[in-house]
Amino acid sequence: MKIWIDGRYCGREEARISVFDHGLLYGDGVFEGIRVYSGRVFRLREHLERLYRSARAILLEIPLAPEELRRTVTGAVEANGAPDAYIRLVVTRGVGELGMNPRLCPKPSIILIVDEIRFYPEKCYADGIALMTSSLRRISPASYDVRIKSLNYLNNLLAKIEANQAGCLEAVLLNQEGRVAECTGDNIFIWSGGTLKTPSAADQALEGITRAVVLELAAAAGLPRAEASLTQYDLYTAEECFLTGTGAELMPVTKIDGRTIGDGTPGPVTRRILELFREEVRKP
Ligand code: PMP
Repeated sequence: MKIWIDGRYCGREEARISVFDHGLLYGDGVFEGIRVYSGRVFRLREHLERLYRSARAILLEIPLAPEELRRTVTGAVEANGAPDAYIRLVVTRGVGELGMNPRLCPKPSIILIVDEIRFYPEKCYADGIALMTSSLRRISPASYDVRIKSLNYLNNLLAKIEANQAGCLEAVLLNQEGRVAECTGDNIFIWSGGTLKTPSAADQALEGITRAVVLELAAAAGLPRAEASLTQYDLYTAEECFLTGTGAELMPVTKIDGRTIGDGTPGPVTRRILELFREEVRKP
């Protein structure tokens, strides 16, 4: 495993940040999770664009230009040597005072971890997983825009804890109006009435990179698709449902709140898109 912190490589045991870093003290920072397939970083441009947008939204200046950061990421992947990997790229506000004021943090820190990928068991892809609807609502845009991929994941984490306690791998978060937003770390899609549907950023879905790839693949395959406002009714009556995310890739969902989705097995559209996705990531 290779870890790069502010210009220096170190191993897992030596990798350290200050206890005064506001990323730790306040969750003040932004991040990306990125995949490496066959030695190539998947959709790096899109991930970097989202990272710089998130940073801009919280007035955090990333101390490397996008091209330099791109080269740093690809350099770390080469140094790591593994053809398939997971990258965690984090930019924190850096070291400051114990007070929250970001103005007292002169230099943001960049942390780049290239690690092994921990796959979900293949059984999950074959059988689908069960979801529950969280009792918590997705953070309101009146508080902050969830398009900011920040280190503040407490909303997601509390929903994940609730899911864990209920024996589910993931939870659906509704937004303040009761419409489906997304899951704790994944976007959600349904196949219903001959159209592939997924909530939009207007309903507090993160503009996921995997989500965008799936929409592209669906377009190329001629599948009708739409960003749509969805309710629990739409989930419960869907013919198929799946999640997308950098870690999960495309995960079939066969149960929500104890109700069987479709016929209770990953449906043909889900399986087709999963196949197209796996081809896409291996393309030279
Ligand atoms: N929603 C949330 C809340 C996430 O944290 C993530 C990624 N971890 C996603 C959706 C999926 O986004 P992506 O496909 O870019 O990984």
